Amino acid sequence: MAQYDVIVIGAGPGGYVAAIRCAQLGLKTACVEGRETLGGTCLNVGCIPSKALLHASHQLHEAEHNFAKMGLKGAAPKVDWKQMLAYKDDVIGQNTKGIEFLFKKNKVDWLKGWGSIPGAGKVKVGDEVHEAKNIIIATGSVPASVPGAEVEVDEKIVVTSTGALELGKIPKKMVVIGAGVIGLEMGSVYARLGTEVEVIEFLDAITPGMDAEVQKTFQKMLTKQGLKFTMGAAVSKVETKGGKATVTYKLRKDESEHSTEADVVLCATGRAPYTDGLGLDALGVKLTKRGQIETDGHWQTAVKGIYAIGDAIEGPMLAHKAEDEGMACAEVIAGKAGHVNYDVIPGVIYTHPEVASVGKTEQQLKEEGRAYKVGKFSFMGNGRAKAVFAGDGFVKLIVDKETDRVLGCHIIGPSAGDLIHEICVAMEFGASAEDVALTCHAHPTFSEAVREAALACGDGAIHA
Ligand code: FAD
Repeated sequence: MAQYDVIVIGAGPGGYVAAIRCAQLGLKTACVEGRETLGGTCLNVGCIPSKALLHASHQLHEAEHNFAKMGLKGAAPKVDWKQMLAYKDDVIGQNTKGIEFLFKKNKVDWLKGWGSIPGAGKVKVGDEVHEAKNIIIATGSVPASVPGAEVEVDEKIVVTSTGALELGKIPKKMVVIGAGVIGLEMGSVYARLGTEVEVIEFLDAITPGMDAEVQKTFQKMLTKQGLKFTMGAAVSKVETKGGKATVTYKLRKDESEHSTEADVVLCATGRAPYTDGLGLDALGVKLTKRGQIETDGHWQTAVKGIYAIGDAIEGPMLAHKAEDEGMACAEVIAGKAGHVNYDVIPGVIYTHPEVASVGKTEQQLKEEGRAYKVGKFSFMGNGRAKAVFAGDGFVKLIVDKETDRVLGCHIIGPSAGDLIHEICVAMEFGASAEDVALTCHAHPTFSEAVREAALACGDGAIHA
């Protein structure tokens, strides 16, 4: 029986980062992972494979739509789907092996198998029980079922994001249930590869929680790219017959029932925390109504010495949120002051154009009754964006009306997912729009649009 200072259960971005940081802080650490490879949902069936397919399909889109305009002529590339999947798998392999290397480098023991907690201070993997002064649960999440609907997922015709990342062939028609981040990213991939994509969404706007103006612009852009949206529709069942699926839904506005056929149905209505088989009930670890593990301000559960982080607890289900919690939780265990600023966690959608946001939306500020100013700048006024056919979209900066302090930012446009970090840093430093506006930005860059939005909060943008 091995004895550890810390055993982390789950090697996703929350768990592997926590394990590495614990080891770096001098704690004897092991990480339990049931999958064949490290990296969790994110590296194996989430962030990384989806971005590989988004990249490949975007290259095709560029070749088909923009190459000729730049004088690049010739036959458009043909899609070799098997090769595209092989490329995606290679990217996954490089990343998961990278974590294995980091575990060895930092002397983190990988305990292979599914772990459970038979008692405080004990972790069972297979037949072996290991002792640990501290346990971090980082078991992540799994795809949620479609609420209120009869749906049987077979990962071939009716799939979750996991099946959508490895379909046997490119479908002629795909129905995506849910217009959230995962549904729209995967829907974009297949639309670019020639699939007819219909998105069915319960609410009246896509990407719930995002800035309303971004939502509208984004939906228009995706529609232009060929995605079809059926909004305000509650799916009641998905039936499969003869290799096809029929999706039945009711429109909320008039309760009328409709159905649509597809070769593949992607269920993308969110994810649910995964804590099966850990033995939490017997331990006295408390869960919320949504099945998330309850933690205090230092990620400790109701049981002393047992911590939880990432998708398994409350908060946005994002890899970087899990990573930040992993680092902070390790620091708390090591007696340091671990901290996560939940007010500055960016959210990004990796479609084309990208969508990114951080901080407050106008809607939230209205509800709070806080006076604010908005500075907006269109990428049409950005020379670099126009040069790469990416003039659609805008940067919207929201600042306190009195103090000019940055409260939020919402971007739809080229490299939005990278641009947003300038505002994250500004918010961490309590900067004002004027601070951003007075910072020299290199020309010609997309970042100039962020500066122009900051200028628009004051005396006005130059290129608007
Ligand atoms: P996970 O990554 O889910 O890892 C948990 C690990 O624990 C798993 O490997 C699991 O096998 C293991 N495990 C569970 N129980 C046990 C047990 N009892 N014993 C041993 N091992 C166990 N987020 C982003 O920030 N950006 C993105 O672009 C993005 N894209 C995504 C795309 C898709 C298609 C999906 C599905 C998700 C995406 N996400 C993205 C979300 C992101 O993947 C998650 O937020 C992140 O992986 C959560 O990390 P985690 O460490 O909490 O859990």
